Amino acid sequence: MTAPDFSRGYPPSDAGRHALEHVREFIAAQALPMVEEVERVIGPTAFALEPDGRLADAMVDLKRRMQQASADAGLYCPHLPAPDGLGLGLVDTFYLQEEIYRHGLRGVQWMIAWTDGPSHLVLYWSPEARERRLGDFLAGRTNVAFALTEPGAGSDALALETSARRDGDAWILRGVKHLITGAPFVELAQVIARVDGAGRGELTAFLVPVDTPGVTRGPVQQTIMSDGQTGVLTFEDVRLPDSAVVGREGNGLPLVFTWINWARSRRGGMCSGLAWHCLDRSADYAARRRAFGRPIGDFGAVAERLSDMYLDWRAMRALSLDILSGLDAADVLGGGRVGAAERRDLSTLKTWCDEALLRVADRAIQVHGGRGLLAETGLERIYRVARNLRIPAGTTEIQRAMIAESLASEYRTAPD
Ligand SMILES: Cc1cc2nc3c(=O)[nH]c(=O)nc-3n(C[C@H](O)[C@H](O)[C@H](O)COP(=O)(O)OP(=O)(O)OC[C@H]3O[C@@H](n4cnc5c(N)ncnc54)[C@H](O)[C@@H]3O)c2cc1C
Repeated sequence: MTAPDFSRGYPPSDAGRHALEHVREFIAAQALPMVEEVERVIGPTAFALEPDGRLADAMVDLKRRMQQASADAGLYCPHLPAPDGLGLGLVDTFYLQEEIYRHGLRGVQWMIAWTDGPSHLVLYWSPEARERRLGDFLAGRTNVAFALTEPGAGSDALALETSARRDGDAWILRGVKHLITGAPFVELAQVIARVDGAGRGELTAFLVPVDTPGVTRGPVQQTIMSDGQTGVLTFEDVRLPDSAVVGREGNGLPLVFTWINWARSRRGGMCSGLAWHCLDRSADYAARRRAFGRPIGDFGAVAERLSDMYLDWRAMRALSLDILSGLDAADVLGGGRVGAAERRDLSTLKTWCDEALLRVADRAIQVHGGRGLLAETGLERIYRVARNLRIPAGTTEIQRAMIAESLASEYRTAPD
C-alpha cells in the first residue's frame, strides 16, 4: 500500500524525517536479517517458549541483540531527551513506531524501547543509579520492569500494599507484584511502594536490581499472548541504599503517571503500524486467493472486510496524530502540565487504537480463512496481542470512566 503523504496533516519534523529514513535502512540492513536468521533455526514463531513458560532463550537473545544493534545505530530511545536519546516528540515517535510495527510482531519491534526499556523515568534515577546502571540500559544490554500492579491492586493502584521502611541509612522493601512485563528476565525493577505511615496517594518509587537478596522472580504468568514475558516479582525484606529512590520519597505518583502516559501515548504508532501490516497483507491475499473461479476480493463480503479495516486504520492514524501533536505542544512527558484535557486525550487515543486494532486483526484473520489462524501466518499473534492491549496501562473501562468524568466536570462547571 502506498506510504502516506506527509505534506499534509501532522508531518514529522526534519529530525523525525531523518530518523525515519534511518529506521527504514536499519530494518532492511540489520533487523530483518537478524529475525530471518533466527526463524531459519527455530521456525516462524517469535514467541517460542522454554518448558517453564519463559520466552525462549533464543528469543530473549534476539531481543537483546536487536535492542543493542538499534542502540548502536542511535535508534533505540528516540523519545528521550539528548544525550540519553534523540529528543524526538510524540508525533515523530509515532512515525518511527508505525514504520517498525508495519513489520508485524516477528522481532523487529524490539528495536525501539518498549515498556521494559528506557522511559522518561530514567531522568529521575539518582546520580548513583544513572552512573552505575544507565549505560547498559540505554545500550539495550539490560531491561527494567515497571512494577505497580499487585494481586489486590490493579485499576485501583492506590490500594497497593508493597511497603518500604527506613532502617538507618537503608530502606527495607516488602511486597508482591504480579502481571509484570519482563519479570522472567529483567535485571532491574522500578517498584512502586508506600513508605510506612504515608498517605494513600503518597507513593515512592525504588530502582531494585533483581539479583538483590530477597527478590524472587516467578512464576511466569502465561497470558493470552503466550509470550512468556509476564510474571510475578516478590520482595521479601529487600535492603536498598538511599540511592535506590527514584525521584523523591513520597513523590512516586507523578512518576507512575509519567510512565503510564508514555505507555498510553505509544499505542498510536504501534496500533497504526500493526493495522497497516494486517491491511497490506489482507488486501494482497484477497487479490491472489481464488475461490469459485474469482479472487476472493471480488466478493462483496470480503471487500467490505477490507474497507472496514481501512476505515479503522485511517481513523486511528488521524486521531493519534491529532492528539499527539497537542500532547507535544503541552510537553506532557517532559514535565508539562497534564490537565483534564490531556488525560482525556490520552484515554481517547488508547481506547480507540486498542479497540480498532482488535477489529482490524479479527478481520485480517477472517479474510485469510483457515490460514489466518495458523501461528506461522503471524496474524493470530497480532489478534492476541491486540486483545491484551485493552487491559494493561489502564483498562478500556477505566479510560472511558476518565473520559466521562472529564466531560462531566466541564458540564458541572458550565454556567446555567
Ligand atoms: C500482559 C500484561 C502485562 C502487564 N504489565 C504490567 C506491568 O509491566 N506493570 C504493572 O504494574 N502492571 C502490568 N499489568 C497489569 C495491568 O496494568 C492490570 O491488569 C490492569 O491495570 C487491570 O488491573 P486488574 O487486572 O487488577 O483488574 P481489575 O482492576 O480488578 O479490574 C477488573 C475489571 O473491573 C473493571 N473496573 C475496575 N475498576 C473500575 C472502575 N472504576 N470503573 C469501571 N470498571 C472498573 C476493569 O476495567 C476490569 O474490567 C499487565 C497486565 C497484563 C495483562
